[in-house]
Amino acid sequence: MPHLLGLQGMPPDRLRSLLARARDLIPHAERARPPLDTRRGASVVNLFFEDSTRTRLSFTLAARRLGADVADLTAAGSSASKGETLLDTALTVRALGASGIVLRHAMSGAAIAAARALDALPGPPCAILNAGDGRHEHPTQGILDALTIAEAHARLPDFNLGGLRIAILGDVANSRVARSDIAALTALGASVVCVGPPGLCPPSLRSLGCDTSHDLDAVLPDVDAVQSLRIQMERSPALASVRDYAAGYQLDLARSARMKPGAVVLHPGPMNRGVEITGDVADGPRSRILRQVTLGVAVRMACLAECLAR
Ligand code: ASP
Repeated sequence: MPHLLGLQGMPPDRLRSLLARARDLIPHAERARPPLDTRRGASVVNLFFEDSTRTRLSFTLAARRLGADVADLTAAGSSASKGETLLDTALTVRALGASGIVLRHAMSGAAIAAARALDALPGPPCAILNAGDGRHEHPTQGILDALTIAEAHARLPDFNLGGLRIAILGDVANSRVARSDIAALTALGASVVCVGPPGLCPPSLRSLGCDTSHDLDAVLPDVDAVQSLRIQMERSPALASVRDYAAGYQLDLARSARMKPGAVVLHPGPMNRGVEITGDVADGPRSRILRQVTLGVAVRMACLAECLAR
């Protein structure tokens, strides 16, 4: 049974097949069709050790639209507070009959560790779907961002993003979204440039196959999409001054006006309006931010359909 642990190193055929499945499921995400029943009898457990709005809800809705049952466990109120390890919790959830575990955890590598623990001990098939592990990866977000950009630039037939240049803006160093985005977008042929102040956008990111820049105003006129990232106060409390950050890197109306016609703005949420992005850009004509949310349901349906045993 496949797990979904990350996009770095994912075979391109698997990525394209998840995207194609998600594209075909868009009408179900938009609720234009009655729910499918293809995973009736499967049980999905959301195991969230960090907060979430979009990811948790969209995995829940996606599982239900496939006919699966869903149960939720959050860190507060679980036996994690009594010292149970993540790996024991994952084994326990499988023993309770889960066929899929959607896992979010503050530790980078948590999803890989949980998958190894399940694979090492005998038990019924149970897939781990990584819903964000520390600063490492957030694969369903990477897939939904690629789908959103492909849709905006009429690349849905084959997901070939060749010729497109995408900027990932802001707190890249702390962002698991950025790592999954870079992997997905470059695998599909786009060129990616990460932009931010040196502390949040170090040159070492280039090892992931992207460019880096500290000059947003130089980059903006050349890009076809900007993914604006949240400043992760919980992971980078050292941001010296929000005002200095905004002067150099806030995506505001004046900067948005200098983007190419047809270029789009994304944000994985939750937004700090007035910090990394202004409200008029978030709500403006270039914004695909709420479309990302809708497409996220289609992507999570596709990933659950792939990972859950029939
Ligand atoms: N929601 C995304 C994540 O969990 C992005 C963020 O929190 O800034 O990684």
